[in-house]
Amino acid sequence: MSATDANHAQQPDYSQWRDLAARVTPRAQAFIDGRFVPARSGKTFTAINPATEAAIAEVAACDAQDVDLAVRAARAAFEAGTWSRCAPGERKKVLQRLGALIAAHREEFALLDSLNMGKRVADAWQFDVPASAELFAWYGEAIDKLYGEVAPTGPGNLSFVTREALGVVGAVVPWNFPLDMVAWKVAPALAAGNSVVLKPAEQSPLSALRLAELAREAGVPDGVFNVVPGYGETAGAALGLHADVDVLAFTGSTAIGKRFMEYAARSNMKQVWLECGGKSPNLVFDDADDLDLAAQKACFGIFFNQGEVCSANSRLLVQRSIYDTFVEKLAEHARGWYPGDPLDPASGMGAMVDVTQHARVMAFIERSRRSASLVSGGQAARVNGKGWFIEPTIFAGVRPDAELARDEVFGPVLAVMPFDTEDEAVRIANDSIYGLAASVWSGSLKRAHRVAANLRAGTVSVNTVDALSMQTPFGGFRQSGFGRDLSLHALDKFTGLKTTWIQY
Ligand code: NAD
Ligand code: MN
Repeated sequence: MSATDANHAQQPDYSQWRDLAARVTPRAQAFIDGRFVPARSGKTFTAINPATEAAIAEVAACDAQDVDLAVRAARAAFEAGTWSRCAPGERKKVLQRLGALIAAHREEFALLDSLNMGKRVADAWQFDVPASAELFAWYGEAIDKLYGEVAPTGPGNLSFVTREALGVVGAVVPWNFPLDMVAWKVAPALAAGNSVVLKPAEQSPLSALRLAELAREAGVPDGVFNVVPGYGETAGAALGLHADVDVLAFTGSTAIGKRFMEYAARSNMKQVWLECGGKSPNLVFDDADDLDLAAQKACFGIFFNQGEVCSANSRLLVQRSIYDTFVEKLAEHARGWYPGDPLDPASGMGAMVDVTQHARVMAFIERSRRSASLVSGGQAARVNGKGWFIEPTIFAGVRPDAELARDEVFGPVLAVMPFDTEDEAVRIANDSIYGLAASVWSGSLKRAHRVAANLRAGTVSVNTVDALSMQTPFGGFRQSGFGRDLSLHALDKFTGLKTTWIQY
């Protein structure tokens, strides 16, 4: 089955998902130099299903020793040239095979992510898994079509510029889209000819380990793709500080992103690329064509994936003339997002990733009750008496200087605030340490262009939210980070320009 065929397949129903879930057998050891191995220390950590609180695997807890073994394997493979120096057309075939293998294991990958971090299996099946499959195929397809340059240096000189693989890429990723976040880093890094050492989030290592196994089956040579599950403070820090890692690509919180810049400064000045947090504004003007669609998408923008989305539209700015009606519409649409069993396609949301994130989000909600008015939700929820669920929560009348308007919650909590003029809306929207995404709703072409031009964000969606594709770059300004994922621009992070100059 190709990645594209997967789009036409029929999704399992609730009872089929439950049957399939009972049969999933996760890989739980580290994947180093083409083999599954335990952590050298023998330590493990427990992978927990946040919807049921059940243990689902004992995963190798890698530390500096394991990271070092993985980096050595990655370096040896890079130097041997089995991947780094094979023709781009050969890497293409392998990555296309890997894309097809991911698509062929669609249900398994969807379940691994859902069981491991609580997202709706239906979403993982419909969005995450096919997108990851396509991404490997896409970078594979691209890599033998990237040409170098001949520079206009004049007679007697031939200077040409080539893109070189950089060597060993370390990737440290979060738990909100486990497979996709891996694919966003690993697919372009491998396509460019690098070796990779990946540290998945401790909350969600299972799909990455299965991916490594399939990558080998697809023909990725041993040592080229390694996965070291473990905690941030041990495995993550060891990768960030390793003297033989050339590039470190990170997605996660702004605080830890800054830590990786320090790690690089303290070690070998490795290149660091950061995709960090956000507090993305969604601006609804009274001249929007379809306020009902805007309200529906505003809910999608904050409740999709339990709000655990770095580009979540967590600040909603609504023009005062339509404010009251719009808030009513929001409350109506929020009803469709009530959480339930992540294996049930009828559930609005799944579970929060773990008890810690659940407590963090609930604390935000409790603190916000004092200063804003609760329009919907606000409670923790259980499913069959278990799990870390939270209702879709909307606060209206949030002041632009309130915590809820400034700090990333990373949960299903929307901060709604009114504005009067376009200038005021843009000023409030841009008053943030972040600059990842923004949305604008207006029927006026002039206004949409004007506002989009004035918003400081890596992606501005007009009359939709969270516009995203593999053809367009994704990333932020300000403390949302730098460097871009997706599109051909992602290859800039994993290649270096080399000038060769011949004088004749
Ligand atoms: P995090 O930044 O702590 O973790 C992201 C990755 O970094 C994980 O793999 C983690 O193990 C690793 N890490 C953590 N501490 C580390 C350290 N000291 N050294 C090296 N690596 C380390 O994110 P989190 O704790 O999972 O979530 C906390 C907050 O981060 C969330 O509430 C949210 O605000 C934000 N977040 C953002 C994104 C995003 O896509 N931008 C994704 C997840 C979380
Ligand atoms: Mn953390």
